[in-house]
Amino acid sequence: MTRSRRLASNLRDLRNAVSKLPDAVVLLDEQQQVRWFNHAAENLLGLRRPQDRGVSLPQRLAGSELADWLRDGARAPLNDASAPGQADSQINLSLLPLGDHEQLLLAHDVSHLNRLEQTRRDFVSNVSHELRTPLTVIHGYLELLDPEDVPELAPVLGEMRAQSKRMGQIVEDLLTLSRLETQHEVVDERVPMEALLATVRKEAEALSQGRHRIVLESTAGVDLLGSPKDLHSALSNLASNAVRYTPAGGSITIHWQREPTGAAYSVSDTGFGIPASHLARLTERFYRVSSSRSRETGGTGLGLSIVKHVLNLHQAQLRIQSAPGVGSTFSCHFGTARLLPPGGNDET
Ligand code: ADP
Repeated sequence: MTRSRRLASNLRDLRNAVSKLPDAVVLLDEQQQVRWFNHAAENLLGLRRPQDRGVSLPQRLAGSELADWLRDGARAPLNDASAPGQADSQINLSLLPLGDHEQLLLAHDVSHLNRLEQTRRDFVSNVSHELRTPLTVIHGYLELLDPEDVPELAPVLGEMRAQSKRMGQIVEDLLTLSRLETQHEVVDERVPMEALLATVRKEAEALSQGRHRIVLESTAGVDLLGSPKDLHSALSNLASNAVRYTPAGGSITIHWQREPTGAAYSVSDTGFGIPASHLARLTERFYRVSSSRSRETGGTGLGLSIVKHVLNLHQAQLRIQSAPGVGSTFSCHFGTARLLPPGGNDET
């Protein structure tokens, strides 16, 4: 075989292989006109041959998320976009430069993964709902039993009450997480920050029972736009963690301050701190640095997952700085779009 024949045959093999890939592959020129596409691109993107060769892809798919993303330059991958060629399918997209003038569009079908994820969410939510009623009944009966009537069982009763309360809290937190996971946006209301910060501080003081010095420094002078209930839960979670993971005699500072990109709520403590190797996983459900410490202080292991979900719904970010034996700072960074001048009684 001559060298050019061998090259042509190799090229044919390569095309054949790519044409059979389960991922959609589209070769685009400088003007984002279609030069070539494989079979999966016909199914997922709805392209037809031969008529779609040479057409502008953003024009051909006008009105789709994919077309808007291509027009905007497709700088970052686009996840969970609906597939233009297949109703009910979702795809992850990326655009790779190929040489100086061409680009390769790749689309991966993630519908199956999304369905599995939905099944997992439904399962957790259904189990939590099913557990709620029997737990309420057990808790109710335990409350009826008076330890003074059965003194020999008093310690057992106390432990049973504490454990049933803990299970109840885990179920409530799981239900909160399920709700937050299925929600894509929050109903925007004014969240009066001075009142919320005062409540968070009061709750932290009640939990601490005088064992810590708790300071509130509020200089931002702005309110937030979002869900008052969810933001209360997130912000007070961070303050209660600070109390629970700081030995008696330590101090806790709650800050609400402006920053160039918006405003930040942060809670700093002088507590146990967290080794760097744990930081990236802290917001996973049930992830704990020390299980015994979490349980002793009534933790469910779900608090920071709830915080992360609430912040995501408000387009805010959680940052954690911590050093073992020195303390931790958990901060929530809100963009300017979420800030309101304080005071008004309006509901936006
Ligand atoms: P938990 O109910 O166990 O406190 P969270 O989701 O609120 O669950 O926190 C996850 C883990 O992160 C905790 O178990 C603890 O190990 C660690 N953690 C959270 N906040 C702090 C803090 N302020 N100081 C030290 N460790 C913390």
